[in-house]
Amino acid sequence: MTEAPVVVLGSGLAGWTSIKEFRKHDSQTPVVLVTASSGDAYPKPALSTAFAQGKSAQQLVNGLAADLAASLNVQCHAHSHAHGLHLAKRELHTDTQVFTYSRLVLALGAEPIRLPLDGDAADRVLSVNQWADYALLRERLQPGAKVLIMGAGLIGCEFANDLAGAGFQVHVVDPATRPLAALLPEAASAPLQQALGDLGVVWHLNNRVTSVSHQGPALLAHLHSGEALPVDMVLSAIGLRPDTAWLAQAGLACDRGVLVNHQLQTSDPHVYALGDVAQYASAGDRVLPYVMPIMTAARALGATLAGTPTDVVFPVMPVAVKTPAFALLLALPEPGTAGQWQSSEEHVWQFMTDDGRCRGFVLGGKQTAQRAKAMQWLAS
Ligand SMILES: Cc1cc2nc3c(=O)[nH]c(=O)nc-3n(C[C@H](O)[C@H](O)[C@H](O)COP(=O)(O)OP(=O)(O)OC[C@H]3O[C@@H](n4cnc5c(N)ncnc54)[C@H](O)[C@@H]3O)c2cc1C
Repeated sequence: MTEAPVVVLGSGLAGWTSIKEFRKHDSQTPVVLVTASSGDAYPKPALSTAFAQGKSAQQLVNGLAADLAASLNVQCHAHSHAHGLHLAKRELHTDTQVFTYSRLVLALGAEPIRLPLDGDAADRVLSVNQWADYALLRERLQPGAKVLIMGAGLIGCEFANDLAGAGFQVHVVDPATRPLAALLPEAASAPLQQALGDLGVVWHLNNRVTSVSHQGPALLAHLHSGEALPVDMVLSAIGLRPDTAWLAQAGLACDRGVLVNHQLQTSDPHVYALGDVAQYASAGDRVLPYVMPIMTAARALGATLAGTPTDVVFPVMPVAVKTPAFALLLALPEPGTAGQWQSSEEHVWQFMTDDGRCRGFVLGGKQTAQRAKAMQWLAS
């Protein structure tokens, strides 16, 4: 009897990189890729910098599914949405067919959180988390359009910079009193807020959108403050959350993501997970929705799937905030670390513990070039 294939669910960075890493060790075992999207590869971080790069949505695609599948000896089933798992039978159920697996890799990312909004145009609010979302945004954006962005977090600020830099009129609404409030020490938000303001971004902080209605061909966004903003587009960037309900129902242990051990194995020994959907034991039970953790996890998983069980060990992984108006590089302390932010130089902040150890840093503007030096602070 032939062995059931390794089935990989999801064709984002986690899915394709896992396959590439596995193929470095094993070129023969059948691999099947199942994905709700087209399967084409693209660098997701470029979605929020495409205007600055002078690229259209189409130009961001850097690998066609058919070409990748051929070069990696993979059978690709695109536009196939999975909704069920039968762990005992090792079956993945989708809207097109049932796939039997020897090992299953869950690489299905996370879903945009959607706020319940009032108004007859609430369904016009866009979230950009996949290439197809971005293609739709570009299709709808007319030159000079007025765009309201919900959320002044990492993705909201990056889009604000890219769109304002490209000549769009950008408004950002957030319940916090400053941008990147959840990530930055207070003093570090100010230069970012200033720089994006200088670029034309209008801030509506300590505020939130309550409804979005049609107003002729445009939209009218009502804010909690009572203000009504006529806009052409509303973009929601308030965060992502893995859709684990159906996986938990199938019997997999889930919390904020699918729980995985140090070898990326879920509570079922034949099922693995990585990427935005995973909550990693190797990261102190955290989700790590960034590129670097995926590259690290995929390398370990490739070896594990090929028969050499390998623990994933995450190095310190600073995150670059791609806001060229005031770029930032962050390495945040582990949650619960006691200490405070200090600044001894302009646009440099260190998170210091009471015994004088540096456990995190934020570099802003030109200081982002000091990355190597800052990494040494964490090592000492
Ligand atoms: C605009 C933006 C900018 C970013 N910039 C940075 C950055 O600068 N640096 C950084 O480190 N990180 C950045 N990130 C985060 C980083 O891009 C993500 O962590 C990473 O791309 C997630 O990859 P993934 O493969 O886990 O998920 P995804 O890329 O979301 O892929 C998930 C795949 O699963 C498929 N799928 C989902 N559900 C199902 C289902 N039920 N059935 C079948 N298929 C399904 C989807 O179609 C998709 O193919 C950014 C994210 C965004 C949105």
